[in-house]
Amino acid sequence: MSVSAQSKPIRQIVHVIGDGCAALSLAARVDQMPHHRLTLVHPDGAPPRQDHIWGFWQIDGLEAAAELARHKWTCWRIATAEGEALLASEKHAYHALQRSQWESHCSDSARSHGVNFVSQKKLKDVAAAQILDSRPPAIPAGQMIQHFIGWEVTAPSGSFDPTQAILMDFRCDQSRGIHFIYLLPFDDRTALVESTMFAPHREPDIFFETAITHYLAAQCGVTKFTTRRTEAGAIPLGRLPRSSSAMIGLGGNGGAIRPSSGYAFAFIQKQITDIIARAGQTAAMTDRGGPLAVRSPHKPVDLWMDEVFVVVLRHWPARSPELFLRMARALDGDEFALFLSGEAGWALRFKVILAMPKWIFIKAVCRLIIGSSKPGASRMVSPSSKRKGA
Ligand SMILES: Cc1cc2nc3c(=O)[nH]c(=O)nc-3n(C[C@H](O)[C@H](O)[C@H](O)COP(=O)(O)OP(=O)(O)OC[C@H]3O[C@@H](n4cnc5c(N)ncnc54)[C@H](O)[C@@H]3O)c2cc1C
Repeated sequence: MSVSAQSKPIRQIVHVIGDGCAALSLAARVDQMPHHRLTLVHPDGAPPRQDHIWGFWQIDGLEAAAELARHKWTCWRIATAEGEALLASEKHAYHALQRSQWESHCSDSARSHGVNFVSQKKLKDVAAAQILDSRPPAIPAGQMIQHFIGWEVTAPSGSFDPTQAILMDFRCDQSRGIHFIYLLPFDDRTALVESTMFAPHREPDIFFETAITHYLAAQCGVTKFTTRRTEAGAIPLGRLPRSSSAMIGLGGNGGAIRPSSGYAFAFIQKQITDIIARAGQTAAMTDRGGPLAVRSPHKPVDLWMDEVFVVVLRHWPARSPELFLRMARALDGDEFALFLSGEAGWALRFKVILAMPKWIFIKAVCRLIIGSSKPGASRMVSPSSKRKGA
């Protein structure tokens, strides 16, 4: 092969509909796919960008995100009215990354590697391209959803302990279903405080706002604070259809959201690492770019365990504080982080299974088998995605 042929590989044109987390994270690494030419398409009807925090545990492959993180905690807590668990890990610390920071990092990297950014109306070369769709999937009516409202607040010095993240604190109003507070203290006076519910329906904003105010007063002794920023979302819990059956999904639309927790950031990065590795293998064999293969970043057994867990949450919501506490008490910090990041082996999975009350899980498996736990209607409601919970 001539030198000029080597320097000009035959490239596959790929258009990604959407310019959010998954699309930008892929585009930022396009230099690792010399046989592909990428365009990110800002979709018609896209909602305004909302800044927020992505939480994730440090695992291999997340070095760039960890580097840019706003804060990290080597201790995190799960609390209920019955007791609490404090977990610690130096190796797998919990990180908070500002979405705007990651997006501008990825966008700069993508532009420097020649990625095109266009609006959907101006998109060309459609016939020759592979199209990936990263718009969020519609959520079937009746699906369990993680609804939340978060406030980033500033309070008097000494209000928060910046050494500990509170992942779930169930010492809040439990009268409407599964409800907990998520609190990320960035320093002793600044924290993101979120009221989160796991339910098929959404409570009015006032429910979440009252919960945050009450929690700050009751658990942190904070009655005077200012709200610097708010965030809100609705993340589906459970498996979802793609937004368009005609296109290959990417990110949340490619099955990256962890069904039992709503965590997606780390799984999106794993999905992209896999796409790049497979593209490299194809290019090495054929010396040309082929269509990108997008796979679920979750192992089938984890998806199945998650489905069972979501059935338990749906049918026995009052047991949820106990379930999360049992899991946190059964694991050490490293194990907890690995389990939630989809890095569990069989020994760790069995540890979690053994920590759970058996009877309701057996009943949940039966419900799943006979199909009585699926969200009933095929009607869709509008989505927006997010994470949290253990
Ligand atoms: C507030 C919030 C907090 C979150 N926190 C965490 C967290 O802490 N940890 C974690 O792991 N995950 C978290 N998530 C979940 C997940 O990581 C994010 O949703 C992530 O952005 C998903 O990436 P994505 O590329 O699939 O979708 P997105 O980043 O949402 O990108 C979707 C693309 O589709 C476009 N789009 C959206 N709706 C429409 C529409 N109706 N019509 C046309 N275009 C549309 C958008 O403009 C965007 O270009 C959070 C999500 C939210 C919303």
